[in-house]
Amino acid sequence: MSRSRELSILDEDGEELVLDTDDAAALLALTDDFDTVTVSACPTCRARVVACVALVDLLGAAPPYARARELLELAEDAPTLHLYVHDLGTSCDHPTWRDPGFTEWSDVVEGYDDARRALP
Ligand SMILES: [Zn+2]
Repeated sequence: MSRSRELSILDEDGEELVLDTDDAAALLALTDDFDTVTVSACPTCRARVVACVALVDLLGAAPPYARARELLELAEDAPTLHLYVHDLGTSCDHPTWRDPGFTEWSDVVEGYDDARRALP
């Protein structure tokens, strides 16, 4: 059982849900790698922008998932239509992810990362 941080899911306010390796693997299996809810994604890692409404629908129709309630709350309370998935297990700089989704993603995720690094 690995408990390392694997995926972080953020809303535009910086509300964050962190999934460890097992929870992330379960969610990716459940959502088919977010296939149907992805708005925009990095071609080479798991960083992506997902649609809140589609994710809520998907989780509602999916088998029970341990973190579903937290994820649903994040999606339902999100200030915008999107959530931002941050792949914590990669050093990918997303060099080939070049569309408006990436700009939106990096504004949220990198802004939040900078704030986190600035903490003592
Ligand atoms: Zn990437």
